[in-house]
Amino acid sequence: MGIRVEHLNHIYGAGTAFEQYAVRDVSFEISPGEFVGLMGHTGSGKSTLVQHLNGLLKPTSGRVLYDEEDIHGPGYSLRKLRGKVGLVFQYPEHQLFETDVFTDVCFGPKNLGLTPEECKGRAREALANVGLPEKLWDESPFELSGGEKRRAAIAGVLAMEPEVLVLDEPTAGLDPKGREEILDKIKELHEARHMTVLLVSHSMEDLAIYTDRILVMNQGGLAYDGTPREVFGHYEALEKMGLSAPQITYVAHKLKVLGVPINADVTTVAEATEEILQVWRRIHG
Ligand code: ADP
Ligand code: MG
Repeated sequence: MGIRVEHLNHIYGAGTAFEQYAVRDVSFEISPGEFVGLMGHTGSGKSTLVQHLNGLLKPTSGRVLYDEEDIHGPGYSLRKLRGKVGLVFQYPEHQLFETDVFTDVCFGPKNLGLTPEECKGRAREALANVGLPEKLWDESPFELSGGEKRRAAIAGVLAMEPEVLVLDEPTAGLDPKGREEILDKIKELHEARHMTVLLVSHSMEDLAIYTDRILVMNQGGLAYDGTPREVFGHYEALEKMGLSAPQITYVAHKLKVLGVPINADVTTVAEATEEILQVWRRIHG
């Protein structure tokens, strides 16, 4: 069950002078209820990959299965799939188009065939969940700030109550407080509704805090698939891919080199604090 990607290849403009090999032989599974991160240098194929998960892009070769069914198989409804796998685009402008925010957020549930009252209820809840102030609900989505547009786009997808939420760099354009608010809310929905989440992010810190598993893309291929600890343990290889581990992992390694007996594979400030306190207690306790 869940998502299964098998030997996915995607080539843009195949057979033309502009041919671009964007995804190379990528395979992985995501089970229902997982919170997975996706990282990779710009141009490594993350956006191309995630647009396959709800059928927006079609594999050049390979397959995408949802609950064991090939989404490009005969008779498969991509429209239904898009109600189950919600994708928040990297650029929110690309998914806002109605005259006001509220109507825009109603668009998804309306497409699912819900009654106008149900749609409004869904929209109100989703807008409240992303923390978009009520006074903005009647505004044109194009009048909003970058961060507000982002919240509106996320609300539009949440209003469909998808089983899987795919967020392509959702925190770009948000300040640190706004980032934490949104990601905390998504974590809450993940826990409360068992919503599967795939979070594409450039923030190693966010990936370490929020995800249970991280996929790493490099030049179109899948380089790593493991827990944050496992993946960030490869920090030297990650650096060669233009990536890194969270800052705190480097601090822990430095302390270890200096002779502090701490477990150096921590990935969050909370874990590091606990490690340092334990060393402190051993010395002073
Ligand atoms: P990422 O999201 O990791 O930055 P993308 O999936 O956007 O990576 O891009 C992967 C590769 O595909 C890049 O070389 C990019 O230039 C190319 N690419 C992306 N979108 C298109 C497109 N619509 N047409 C042609 N090439 C594209
Ligand atoms: Mg991208």
